[in-house]
Amino acid sequence: MNNSLRIFTFKGIPVEIHISWLLIFSLLSISLAMGYFPETVEGYSNQVYWAAGIITTLVIFASVLTHEFGHSLVALKEGIPIKKITLFIFGGVAHMEHDPNHPSAELKITAAGPLTSLLIAAAAGAVYYLLLTPGLLASEAVLIVARVNLVMAVFNLVPAFPLDGGRLFRSIVWYFNKNMLTATRIAAGFGSFLSFLIMALGFTMIFFQGNILGIWLIFIGWMIYQAGQSSYSQLVFKDTFAGMKVSELMSTDLQTISPDATLDELADHFLHYKYGAFPVVYGSTTHGLVSLQHVKEIPREKWAETRVSQVLTPLKETMVLKPDNDAAEVMMRMAAQNTGRALVMENGDLVGLLSRTDMMRFMQMHMALGSD
Ligand SMILES: [Zn+2]
Repeated sequence: MNNSLRIFTFKGIPVEIHISWLLIFSLLSISLAMGYFPETVEGYSNQVYWAAGIITTLVIFASVLTHEFGHSLVALKEGIPIKKITLFIFGGVAHMEHDPNHPSAELKITAAGPLTSLLIAAAAGAVYYLLLTPGLLASEAVLIVARVNLVMAVFNLVPAFPLDGGRLFRSIVWYFNKNMLTATRIAAGFGSFLSFLIMALGFTMIFFQGNILGIWLIFIGWMIYQAGQSSYSQLVFKDTFAGMKVSELMSTDLQTISPDATLDELADHFLHYKYGAFPVVYGSTTHGLVSLQHVKEIPREKWAETRVSQVLTPLKETMVLKPDNDAAEVMMRMAAQNTGRALVMENGDLVGLLSRTDMMRFMQMHMALGSD
């Protein structure tokens, strides 16, 4: 995630805060300091309520972080490096370098998170019931920490991939059918279904109960849906393009067009070569990319007087790749930005053209022939 600030590194894992986290941090501190604490325990000054609100919120986020470290430390034990842990509006996420190679590893790594939250909940609950006097501000703060951790464990166990519960579900399906891709498709499919249920629940809350908190559920449902879809396609891309570089997939049989050519000439070019787009090159300078779409946007009677340079997508707005870029990563980027074509350049020279359609065709072929 961009817009993140690195706060510290523990066991070699950088921890960062995404800007959206500030929103949830403020919302939680405010609602504790101005709502929950004054309503639950009376007789303290505003400053004390604020201090309690902020400290409790910090402890809650320390719990979220501990949950993520629960996943991360087990992942490290299983030989999977962790790129970083990010705290954001919906909690935390530990970014693994790659997925586990075996369902039992995934089961252990995933279970470690909710187990950590349950342990914190149990410890805080025990402290509250055994050591503290109910009705004091500090006691109520400890109770809140226990409750939030319990909710966190339970919520994460909802079997909507890629939530922890969905990952556990995937690891079990994966264990039985021995195919991670199919297991992910099943888990992500069930996850989408659940995410729509969560969103429907949110709409019901808003329209039938007038409860504005339903918006939160709609957001969460939508996030789960998006995350599930993108982790599945990411996996498909990784499986298809494992270890491949852009240079292996790009077309090097380049037909270019001059920026000074008219659209009439460009149209002839399209008919002759039957490509969907041409790099615009003059001498050794690459100016950009021109596609069939650009021509279609200009009325036919103006083709003779309009030059390619007037309609092209300039180089700075074109996706430019290097020959040794990772193909799976590029495919993800093209899908995310909805880009159809990218120019491949090396030291300022145009060396190839990569089209998403070609990559999709390769994917279909790969699937038809089987992944092994
Ligand atoms: Zn988790």
